[in-house]
Amino acid sequence: MSETTVNMEKLVNLCQRRGFVFQSSEIYGGLSGCWDYGPLGIELKRNIKQAWWKAMVQDRDDMVGIESSILMAPQVWVASGHLVNFTDPLVECKGCNQRFRADLIAGTKCPNCGGALSEPRNFNTMFKTFIGPVENDASVVYLRPETAQGMFVNFDNVLQTTRKKLPFGIAQQGKSFRNEITTGNFIFRSREFEQMEMEYFVKPGTDEKWFEYWLNERMNWYVNHGIKREHLSILEHEKAKLAHYAKRVCDITFLYPMGWEEIEGLASRTDYDLKQHSNASGKVLDYYDDETKEHYTPYVIEPAVGVDRCFLAFLADAYHEEPDKDETRVVLKFHPSLAPVKVAILPLSKKENLAAYAKDVHQQIRGQYATQYDDTQSIGRRYRRQDEIGTPYCVTVDFQSLEDHRVTVRDRDSMNQIRIPVAELQKTLTAKLAGEAFLKLPAGGEVVTAKGKEA
Ligand code: ATP
Repeated sequence: MSETTVNMEKLVNLCQRRGFVFQSSEIYGGLSGCWDYGPLGIELKRNIKQAWWKAMVQDRDDMVGIESSILMAPQVWVASGHLVNFTDPLVECKGCNQRFRADLIAGTKCPNCGGALSEPRNFNTMFKTFIGPVENDASVVYLRPETAQGMFVNFDNVLQTTRKKLPFGIAQQGKSFRNEITTGNFIFRSREFEQMEMEYFVKPGTDEKWFEYWLNERMNWYVNHGIKREHLSILEHEKAKLAHYAKRVCDITFLYPMGWEEIEGLASRTDYDLKQHSNASGKVLDYYDDETKEHYTPYVIEPAVGVDRCFLAFLADAYHEEPDKDETRVVLKFHPSLAPVKVAILPLSKKENLAAYAKDVHQQIRGQYATQYDDTQSIGRRYRRQDEIGTPYCVTVDFQSLEDHRVTVRDRDSMNQIRIPVAELQKTLTAKLAGEAFLKLPAGGEVVTAKGKEA
């Protein structure tokens, strides 16, 4: 089993210091289980969501996306079973009155004071609110605890408007809310979080094959975006403990700073959800198979992942501390597609003629990727700052650039440097962000330093 490279305190610290994540309502002392994403955090989060959307929807012919509302008719949660079953076992300490989720604590005593615990009772974690001006039982609605039901209730809408043939999937990303009994481990378990879920509808009998397929696809997605394979594992749920409608459930677990925990769940849910909604609403939710000339209710395979848990995982695996001269260099080695800033433009001085030239260089590449222009402090400190936020490339503009129209590009991971014509800059950066070897030079380029090992 491999070890994590970073402890949580360092990650939380970096996130606050560099503006990735803040506590919600911090100036009022914070709101437990809620987090705000700062200027860099929102970029990373959007990049994660885009990478998922691209792989799951845009690059495929068998997938479409939707965005359903967070508030849904309360009957949805009756039919889905959430109103009765979406509960966690709650225990309360008879001594200090603190409450815990029974399945998340070890032993039978209070983890806080060692006191005796009450018998567990089922606590429904759906948030309730009211629709309209009257607060009574008839106006109760729930904040969705998952995005999945939005896909099931829209199954026929999507089928009719897209004329998709099985197998096909519906994907969505969005906020979900759970009134977790205890939150913690930073953004790992919160009360308001974001999910990326997909329902893949298949012909009954082909579900086992498709489960394997999606498990494999999802594992590859993490590795292709920078997660270490040895930090991922598959936890198969015991057949005897599965919900009656589930044929198979696997968690993809990740080695977080606090240990192995679920990052994503894959479930083979049979035709349960479509049938439940069909029975409760009276609307037929089935599929007409052109080839076999029969109507049937598709089975479904569901990969469900939390954006915030992905965020923490990508951050943890990107985090590196390396000796550099007499200091320690902190560097986030994000996959280029996830890095919040792709390229930083660093003029060597604030002198007017150089600044004008550097701004012109910046102008030529901004709009292509997320960039930063930084002209404060020494160049060494600026490199450190960019390393610490995971910027793959820094472009330094110096006085020589005014003469030879060339700039120095520094690679985050190897710290190697090349000097290339400004005219080649955009093309070169685009190629390198897409994976080209850093020391491969464009016409008119030269290697400045090549001491570091290239990835
Ligand atoms: P857990 O057992 O950790 O409570 P779960 O099995 O209830 O999670 P699912 O219902 O399978 O989780 O939700 C799918 C995904 O949504 C999870 O794998 C996780 O990434 C994310 N998720 C669920 N609950 C939370 C939460 N409270 N905070 C952040 N992400 C969450």
